Amino acid sequence: MNDVLPDEIARWQHLERLFAETARCYGFSEVRTPFVEPTGLFVRTIGEATDVVEKEMYSFTHHDEALTLRPESTAGLARAYVEHRIHTREPVTKWFSCGPMFRAERPQRGRYRQFSQLDCEIYGDPGPGCDAELIDLVVGFMAKLQIPDVRVLVNSIGGPETRVRYREGLVAFLEPRRDGLSADSQRRLGTNPLRILDSKDERDKAIMAEAPNLAEFLSDDDKAHFDGLQRALTALGVPFTVDPLLVRGLDYYTRTLFEVKGGSAKLGAGDTLAGGGRYDNMIEELGGPSVPAIGFAAGVERLVIASEATIEPSRIDAYVSPLGAGAIERAMILGRDLRQHGIATEVDTRGGSLKSQLRRANALGCSVAIILGENEIAAGTAQVKDLLGHTQDSIALSDVVRIVADRLKSRSR
Ligand code: AMP
Repeated sequence: MNDVLPDEIARWQHLERLFAETARCYGFSEVRTPFVEPTGLFVRTIGEATDVVEKEMYSFTHHDEALTLRPESTAGLARAYVEHRIHTREPVTKWFSCGPMFRAERPQRGRYRQFSQLDCEIYGDPGPGCDAELIDLVVGFMAKLQIPDVRVLVNSIGGPETRVRYREGLVAFLEPRRDGLSADSQRRLGTNPLRILDSKDERDKAIMAEAPNLAEFLSDDDKAHFDGLQRALTALGVPFTVDPLLVRGLDYYTRTLFEVKGGSAKLGAGDTLAGGGRYDNMIEELGGPSVPAIGFAAGVERLVIASEATIEPSRIDAYVSPLGAGAIERAMILGRDLRQHGIATEVDTRGGSLKSQLRRANALGCSVAIILGENEIAAGTAQVKDLLGHTQDSIALSDVVRIVADRLKSRSR
């Protein structure tokens, strides 16, 4: 779990602002749900035999209530969609959300136990057009963040019946080859055999190269949906690759799955920046009506590492330098006036030497210092020093705010 300190926070804020803007342009509204949900919600939706539920959830019991720090946001958002009967208000709902998730994973670069995700969900559109729009949103957002080397992978795992048939086919193929599989995959064969598809173990990969192909098990409707997605992505000019081994870790997915990778030079193998897919049965399984849905989540820490955008750190505009103890209170009043006009201002309430105050003003990146000596205050004036142009003027105290505001405005143009 990481601390995010001020020198990095500007990148986080830039990214979150850009994401909110992008999502708003695609018609999404922001939703915030609790960080804690009943454990059963995640077990039911993510699936019992998944890494997240088996090993990674921070769960606890409080007064006989089993609770979990959310490991992802799709389940909580779906719970909120059902609980507030959102389907009665509108046929299609587009929500976005940002915030921390918790998974007890083995930490490494780009993989943490508390991490932040940006998330979009669409309820009520069976696709495949909306699937393509969602992928287009992610790709456009990553372009704005100047992430190099972005690649989109897509796959379809079909509907629940396809999955059952494929699972049977896969188990029938793997059972006679069980001894050649890694220990993890041998265990998964009995619990969640689809996960063997994306195993990184070389022994598993060699066996899986011969395994039945998921695409051959898709129903005609699944195939039409997947073809529609590919056509729409092509029409939008979004380059993509079909990855038949892409299954992703969670049980709730149906049909479309996708991942967006990028920034590999900095992230190495952990270069999956965003992942998502369709989950057409979740809303109904949570007690709601039959409403199809699709969503994705992107990891903020990884995007921050991968982004090559230059971000201006936030700066203080003006520095108020009182000279002498008698000037400090007047300096504080001037400071508040400047702040009320939206000018970020630091007042040197310690009141050191002029030299040390100006050194601090420069270190903070201020463009203007306002020097208030006791004599100036008596005369109703202040010295306004331009720290970039190195000029200095004596100005009536009553005009200082207006003049400083004008100078900052002309500078930012
Ligand atoms: P997932 O919810 O597992 O599909 O993950 C979606 C995205 O969240 C990933 O592509 C990563 O960018 C990010 N992510 C997932 N797990 C972690 C983690 N433990 N630490 C940092 N980022 C993560």
